[in-house]
Amino acid sequence: MIFMDYKFETPVLASIGTDKYRCSITWRNGSFYADEPVDMGGKDMGPDPYTLLLSSLASCTLITMRMYADRHGWDIPEIRVETNMYEEEKDGAKVAVIDRDVIIDSAATDEQKVRLRQIADHCPISRILHGDLKIRTFMQRQGTEETKQILYANKDIAVVWKPDLCQHSTRCFKGLPEVFDPKVKKWINPEGASSERIIEQVKHCPSGALSIRKLEP
Ligand code: SF4
Repeated sequence: MIFMDYKFETPVLASIGTDKYRCSITWRNGSFYADEPVDMGGKDMGPDPYTLLLSSLASCTLITMRMYADRHGWDIPEIRVETNMYEEEKDGAKVAVIDRDVIIDSAATDEQKVRLRQIADHCPISRILHGDLKIRTFMQRQGTEETKQILYANKDIAVVWKPDLCQHSTRCFKGLPEVFDPKVKKWINPEGASSERIIEQVKHCPSGALSIRKLEP
């Protein structure tokens, strides 16, 4: 199922317990640890968050350049990228600077290297880091808070909406506009899609504002 236009059907899930500072990170095909180095109080069991960021940029750069070189039939056996970062002060504010060194051994011509240098700047992660990046944070709430609730029922289920909990994430109406339409007064139409599809969509509400109550036949 494609949910909204998220990049991934399975989001990256990270969790931390009390074992400083090991984070378990689960992605669509496995899991690994992130941690902090020993001098920051961790055990260095995995890359730290800055290393993950630099790795993301390095790998995206490499994959993008490899795709381009292969498409053009260029015989370049190996490309390497080194990334590192520092912070500098600019107009009283801290600015993060990432340096990316691309190393291509002699197999490539100067013309190819110049072109690959341009391609590196256009890899998807470079564009995200250069562009307008917005991070939205939603606090998941599960539980028993007693708040006002409104029910919208079809013959199988009632969609329960608790307006006080809604964090206006837009996920419901971007994911299933046939059912959720904030522009109309009775904004949830439980007949707009199958009950299974509605149940699936409601699972993605981050705030707990939406839930499902199964109705007795
Ligand atoms: S998905 Fe949940 S939190 Fe987001 S707008 Fe819909 S009801 Fe509100």
